[in-house]
Amino acid sequence: MSLFCDVALPVPLDRAFTYELRELEAEVGARVLVPFGGQQLIGVVVGVHDVRPGPEVEVKAVACVLDEAALLSDELMQLGKWIAQYYCAPLGDVLRGMLPLTAEVRRQWVYRIGEQGRRVQYEGAAKGSSRRSKLSVEDQNREYAVLNYLESGETSKISAIRSATGANKALLDAMAKKRWLVREPLAEVRDARRLETVAVLEEQGSGIREQGLESDAAAGKRLPKLNENQLAVMAELAGCGGRELVRELRARLGARGVPDSTLATLVKRGLVRLEETAQAFHVSGLGNGGKKFAHEHALNEAQTEALGTLVAAMEKGGFRPHLLYGITGSGKTAVYVAAMQRALAAGKSALLLVPEIGLTPGIAAQMVAAFAGEVALLHSQLTPDERAEQWHRIRRGEARVVVGTRSAVFAPMPDLGLILVDEEHDGSYKQEETPRYHGRDVAVMRAKLLGCTVVLGSATPSLESWNNAERGRYARVEMRERVQSRPLPAVEMIDMREEFRETGQEQMFSRKLLVETQATLDRGEQAIILLNRRGYSFVVMCRSCGEKIECENCAISLTYHKPGNEQDLNGEARVGQRLECHYCGYKRGVPKACPKCASEHLYYLGAGSQQGEERLQELFPGARIGRMDRDTVRTRGDMERLLSRLHSGEINLLVGTQMIAKGHDIHGVTLVGVVGADFALGLPDFRAAERVFQLITQVSGRAGRGDLPGKVLVQTYQPDHYVNKFAREHDYTGFAAREMYFRRGMRYPPFSVLANVIVQSEHLEEVLDWSSRLGRWFEQRKLAGVRVLGPAAAPLSRLKRIYRYHLILKADRRDVLGPALREMLAVMDREEIPRRSVVVDVDAMHL
Ligand code: ADP
Ligand code: ZN
Ligand code: ZN
Repeated sequence: MSLFCDVALPVPLDRAFTYELRELEAEVGARVLVPFGGQQLIGVVVGVHDVRPGPEVEVKAVACVLDEAALLSDELMQLGKWIAQYYCAPLGDVLRGMLPLTAEVRRQWVYRIGEQGRRVQYEGAAKGSSRRSKLSVEDQNREYAVLNYLESGETSKISAIRSATGANKALLDAMAKKRWLVREPLAEVRDARRLETVAVLEEQGSGIREQGLESDAAAGKRLPKLNENQLAVMAELAGCGGRELVRELRARLGARGVPDSTLATLVKRGLVRLEETAQAFHVSGLGNGGKKFAHEHALNEAQTEALGTLVAAMEKGGFRPHLLYGITGSGKTAVYVAAMQRALAAGKSALLLVPEIGLTPGIAAQMVAAFAGEVALLHSQLTPDERAEQWHRIRRGEARVVVGTRSAVFAPMPDLGLILVDEEHDGSYKQEETPRYHGRDVAVMRAKLLGCTVVLGSATPSLESWNNAERGRYARVEMRERVQSRPLPAVEMIDMREEFRETGQEQMFSRKLLVETQATLDRGEQAIILLNRRGYSFVVMCRSCGEKIECENCAISLTYHKPGNEQDLNGEARVGQRLECHYCGYKRGVPKACPKCASEHLYYLGAGSQQGEERLQELFPGARIGRMDRDTVRTRGDMERLLSRLHSGEINLLVGTQMIAKGHDIHGVTLVGVVGADFALGLPDFRAAERVFQLITQVSGRAGRGDLPGKVLVQTYQPDHYVNKFAREHDYTGFAAREMYFRRGMRYPPFSVLANVIVQSEHLEEVLDWSSRLGRWFEQRKLAGVRVLGPAAAPLSRLKRIYRYHLILKADRRDVLGPALREMLAVMDREEIPRRSVVVDVDAMHL
């Protein structure tokens, strides 16, 4: 048994804290409750030992060990340490993020017999009652019963004492006051878990459900009479196999006016039974639009070859990262499924990371179809309790296939043999809060620690991954044809400058796009149009003074939303017109006049998807239009409904933001229009070209996935930009080579490593002071191999009322950046710059 343990706590300090174990036993990877700065915190044990810290350190004792055995395996502990080190994040923060369990600490009192109490007990009733007591005889007797009960000297909870003696808390506290008892605090921790309740039709009830008292009466049974509501519940329940979640049942029946109390009545009458279930994720509604599922196809030649490479790597064992570069529609999903099946057959488990399940329910549906009960889905729309439930299920080895978003990379899977990262270029893999890790890179590191195969898949790989493949660090697997030799769509650039010259006015949609859209609809096919900003107009400007109306909390233009059927950030319906900040959610009414100069000439600029929808409705009154953006899609349910209306053809014209570019496989789409995507080329961001290329390629990839060929029209003001040229040719390789040339010249990643250091505070003076002190320190320190740019105002110089300045660190080699950042953090401590005011973003996606 060890004397001490080191505990990582969720506090902004880059070290662990030592506590005394005092007879308790704790494993590395288990959670403990410990006193810290006047409160009690839950931390994770990162080491146990017998080395007493120096006399200058006050060592407190662990209050409570929460887990008998380690919750985090060695492997995950190692991964956590790597993340803390690499991303300069406090280990406690990292480990907390890896454990989805929300422990709840309940404080209560325990009692044991005190000195005085013993005396009373031995000296007997006479002495005790000689004190003039206000207590009833009954309570006096209870007091003696309590003393006898606690005779052994052990502590006991109120509930136990009460059930043995009948004493209540008031009586016990009074005894403690007389010092007959000693009262001590006890922290009891349990993991919050929500159990779902299901209603189950009882044997006796099953005869009644249809309505028919007669049929069963004929069989000679006596059946109770039911009213209409009760029959409705019985019928509903019978209709779903005699078993349904109570909350679902209530929702459905409530909509038909059946009160909640009806179910309770049926339970009372013994016709329905309620059961608690620790169930499980609902996967109903994940359809596939009537198409074959990925696992139902026989693999074609390219898929078979790709699979062969991956299987060979798995069989050989050891860490071997693969980049699966497969163009849109080349059938990557079927390769994932087949590789996962092979992993399972070899007794291993498999993990598939996807960008956002809510936005691409299709891929989850493919996995559920292929692996049924073996799948656990982990995504952001689970409640903490549901997440905990899945987490335990995975840890027990009950779900050997895990499909999940970013944090699923920490899924506690035993025998993990294969990790796949779908759409590895997707920005949602980067966590934009502490710890700021990149899910794809963590996946690669986890595979390295485990010595297993990892596959990064994309039609538009990130330049980082492409570079790794070029240098032979990753094996490259290619699928350069669409399945069934379907052609990629023809991409045409429409020069909007010319369009303006010829028509003499600025239009949202070019003449060609309108003509082609009409023709597509006339042929009974589907079209989708990308307008990558939501809302109606994303800039409101004053024509008199030139001011843009900005958010109160952020240095960001407010977006105008027209009245309509939209939802706000909390999912509540919003119908009124308003200006809204897309960063912090701030809303205000639409002013009649400029807030600066009172001029009434306000000018609405920049068309968003809401305006696009309105214009399309005017232009194509006969079209069945749908819109896909954050205002119309809030939940996975919204997305599923929209997709199923697309699959069925109920919608034939879809307008939306980049959400429409995500992996959807809608076979009827033959035309894709891209409006205003090259706007982003002008952003001050070295990844701008990469992002625009990815977006155009991905959205183009939605066209022509069925039997008919597709066509793409890209409206642009820069038809000669290399992004547009390569996108027109579907030439990812050419684009990557050209972009690498730029990155190499400017020493941007992947030819350097980069960290964004953001200094932030509500007070501008603090931000200026701290950032310039850090800047000066870097200047004097002259770190070899590290270039420091700034400090300067960050591109978003104010966000949610917080001022932001930043410094950019560029290093030639990875191994000089980490130490430089750690030295900086140490200097901050000395200079008393609060740790939480400085964000360190290693491999930042946005500067
Ligand atoms: P990607 O992710 O590479 O864009 P998907 O995995 O979505 O492509 O597959 C595109 C379509 O091709 C899907 O409808 C899929 O069911 C179908 N598909 C996959 N493999 C085959 C195959 N071998 N033969 C025919 N169709 C296939
Ligand atoms: Zn003005
Ligand atoms: Zn704002």
